[in-house]
Amino acid sequence: MEHRYIYADNAATTPVSDAVLEAMLPYFQTNYGNPSSIYAKGRENERAVMDARARVAACLGAQPGEVFFTGGGSESDNWAIKCTADRLAAQGKKHIITSVFEHHAVLHTCEYLEKHGFAVTYLPVGDKGLIDPADVEAAIREDTALVTIMYANNEIGTIQPIPEIGEICHAHKVLFHTDAVQAVGNVEIDVKAQHIDMLSLSGHKLHAPKGVGALYVRKGIQLPNLIHGGGQEMGRRAGTENVPGIIGLAKAMEIATAGIPEKIARLTPLRDMLIDGILQIDQTRLNGDREHRLCGNVNVSIVGVEGESLLLMLDHFGIAASSGSACTSGSLDPSHVLLSLGLIHEVAHGSLRLSLGSDFTKDDAAYVLSVIPQVVDRLRAMSPMWESICKEGRRLV
Ligand SMILES: *Cc1c(COP(=O)(O)O)cnc(C)c1O
Repeated sequence: MEHRYIYADNAATTPVSDAVLEAMLPYFQTNYGNPSSIYAKGRENERAVMDARARVAACLGAQPGEVFFTGGGSESDNWAIKCTADRLAAQGKKHIITSVFEHHAVLHTCEYLEKHGFAVTYLPVGDKGLIDPADVEAAIREDTALVTIMYANNEIGTIQPIPEIGEICHAHKVLFHTDAVQAVGNVEIDVKAQHIDMLSLSGHKLHAPKGVGALYVRKGIQLPNLIHGGGQEMGRRAGTENVPGIIGLAKAMEIATAGIPEKIARLTPLRDMLIDGILQIDQTRLNGDREHRLCGNVNVSIVGVEGESLLLMLDHFGIAASSGSACTSGSLDPSHVLLSLGLIHEVAHGSLRLSLGSDFTKDDAAYVLSVIPQVVDRLRAMSPMWESICKEGRRLV
């Protein structure tokens, strides 16, 4: 059989693109000045960071003064949630609303706040992995400080009704934060029209480097600092700027947001081809709503196989995929996202996520679909669990 290498784990991270690398390179060895320095080499870099800030803001429908560069998606989430909680607790508001299937950067932050006297409501996401805006409204209380709901789920790719949730929050005068790390470059985002007060994004999910991200904070919101020190980022986030990273992030954001319609048009049919092809296998299911779904996300459960073994076999065939979130590997429990859909452990354990890059082709899809059925056959042939399921004639999905 032909051999290829197909990277289908773009929800975990992406390679830095040529255009992004090229934009960054001068800032390592030529334009290395500290943006806070007074001489020309410093001032040049101060200007470059300002320019990058304006470009990132433009991609979100925000003002330049509303964008703060951070060390990535996790930091942005921590900052938005912990520091809003700190500030509003002083006004007696100690309640936060989130969902059960957030990224751990949000979930673990909320759990931390629970240990420090906050009450947190974790909204259910139903069997399709979608949050009902009516549930958000019903959960809002007098003392609600913040609603934080992710824009698109990193494991199952479902896109949440963010504008509707934002509108509800604003009608009740509650701050609204969204972790949009998976949505930026896949969904058209306009923070003003969509009633978003704070938004987290990360560079390495959109072909910029790891370790750089941004937090949008709507003008007028007094968000205290998470990181104290120097006066960088308009005094709100200390630390000498990651200038090459910031330049790369701006370039990547421009390319990603300009390419959304084309990416959706190209990847949606390939995603659907993969989903339909895999669902031909007996006892399989699609995880997450099909319609409100990122154009590059395939997440299926295959009964009778074990996710990790499936990944190793696919790797052998040159296919890099994931079985849930990268952060959950190393733990024996199936991912909290799959369990939140109501899947039983046996079904959640046999899950496979393929997250496609913009360069994924129809040939790649055909290759993946030629490999998966044989790999599944082989794994099922070795599985005592599959044997007993077949003997008893049970159907788990
Ligand atoms: C990757 C990811 C993060 C974390 O971003 P980092 O830049 O890796 O810290 C947060 N939220 C979601 C939804 C993600 O996919």
